[in-house]
Formats: sequence, C-alpha cells, structure tokens
Amino acid sequence: MPDRRAAPLGEDVRAAIGAAAARFGFSATPRLDAELLMAHALGISREAMILTRLGDPVPDGFAALVLRREAHEPIAYLTGNRAFWTIELTVGPGVLVPRADSETLIEAAVAHFAGRAGPASVLDLGTGSGALLLAALAEWPEARGIGLDASEAAIAVARDNVRRLGMADRARIETGGWDGMDGPHDLILCNPPYIATDAVLPLEVRVHEPATALFAGDDGLDDYRRIAQVLRPQIAPAAVACIEIGSDQGDSASALFRAQGMSVEVRQDLGGRDRCLVVTP
Ligand code: GLN
Repeated sequence: MPDRRAAPLGEDVRAAIGAAAARFGFSATPRLDAELLMAHALGISREAMILTRLGDPVPDGFAALVLRREAHEPIAYLTGNRAFWTIELTVGPGVLVPRADSETLIEAAVAHFAGRAGPASVLDLGTGSGALLLAALAEWPEARGIGLDASEAAIAVARDNVRRLGMADRARIETGGWDGMDGPHDLILCNPPYIATDAVLPLEVRVHEPATALFAGDDGLDDYRRIAQVLRPQIAPAAVACIEIGSDQGDSASALFRAQGMSVEVRQDLGGRDRCLVVTP
C-alpha cells in the first residue's frame, strides 16, 4: 500500500485544495472543507487566501489536517473555531459544534422582542460552547446572561469564549442543569440533546461529538420531558423560551410543554424544517 502521507497534495495552494476536496467525498461541503483547512494552515482568513495566496507553496501542516478530516473529524475541531450568528467561537472536542440550524433560536428571539425592549436577562440551558448565550448578548448589548452546562469541558470552552468576546462583565458560565439559576429570565435559550439513541448519524457526529450533547433516550424526548416540568417558573411574564427540536419533533415536543400549561409555536429553520419551539408562559 502506498503511504498516503507521502502522496503529494499539489504544487501550490490551489492544486492542494482541489486534491484535498476530492478526498472529502463523505462531506456535504468538500471544497469548503478543504479551503477552511488550507486557510487555517496558512494562518489567514479564507477570503484573504482566495484573493492573494492560491499560487503559494503548500504550507506545512496541511497534509496532516487532510488526514484528520479523512477520519471524519469535524472541521471546527480541526480549525478550533466556528462562526455562529454574528460571533466567532472557539470550539473543540467535548462541545457540540454550533450549527447554523441553531441560529433559528436567535431568529425566534429577535422576532419575539421586535418592537419592544430587548431582554435584560438571558439564560442558556446546556450552553456548550456558549454559542446561543453569547450570540444573544451580542444581539442585545444591554443584556446580561447565564450559561449552564453539566460538562466541565463545555464550561471551560464557554468561559474561554466569554473572555475572548469581551463579555466577562455580562456573562457567567456555571455548572447546572435544566432547573436553571437566578430566574425568572426574559429570554431562555436551550439546545438540549434530542437524538434517539439508535438513530443513524454521520460518523463525524457519532464518533467525534459528545454523546451527552446528542442522545436523549429511545425517542429523543427524554430531556424535553424533564425541561417541560421545570421550565415555567423560569420564564418571566412577557418572556420567551426558544428551544431547539429535531425536525420530526414539532408535535411530540410541543405537547409536553402544553401539558404543563405553556403556549407553544413551532418555528422552521432555513431549510423549512421544524427546528424551534417558541414557548411562552
Ligand atoms: N442538530 C444536531 C445534529 O443533528 C443535534 C443537536 C442536539 O441533539 N441538540 O447533529
């Protein structure tokens, strides 16, 4: 067997991106993946790379990143960061990679507060990297917030993001679960685990991302059952809770919150799939 490490990836940046993309057939975005890894290896933005560096020699380190991607490591773990809403987050193994789908929760919150005072206090249940909390605090510069997580790895990453984004005076990251802290709050955000235990997932997700952030029992509803029981006292009057759901959980998850006396609307993501419960007390 030829040693793939020795296989030349290309003479220059442009050729190496093409060669790497051809190896990423398992990915939905092979070309983008290759460009992001190359920009990371060069230590510059993807835009700057495309504008000025395509003829450069291939940087040291690119080949190793390509091998790791071929083992289905998420791009965000390889580059160490991910854009979400208007902010850039540090991420790494141990925290869920922020997904564009989750921006649906911020859109729902923006829609709820349109034409009225923004939320003064924000709570993010299961904050992971801090993505939802910090995106909300970026959106409402007067707001303060708390992000809770049960995972020590997540708490370390989220606190790092608070510091990097200069939000230490407005954001606290603490150990905690669905019971919340210091409520009631004006905006509650939550992306809980909601995948059925035996669901078929891309290797990238199942092998590399934290199981505790993904799986929620046989029907994927275990965490909603618990959240529904403890949420209501955490939501202030005129407040809203935006809770992420799987695309087939609109009815089943809504019913759990309605059974506790709350009102629920379901909001769709950019792909038109059910993605967010908009819960009011
Ligand atoms: N949306 C994620 C996925 O499909 C799952 C996130 C979650 O369970 N909260 O991989």
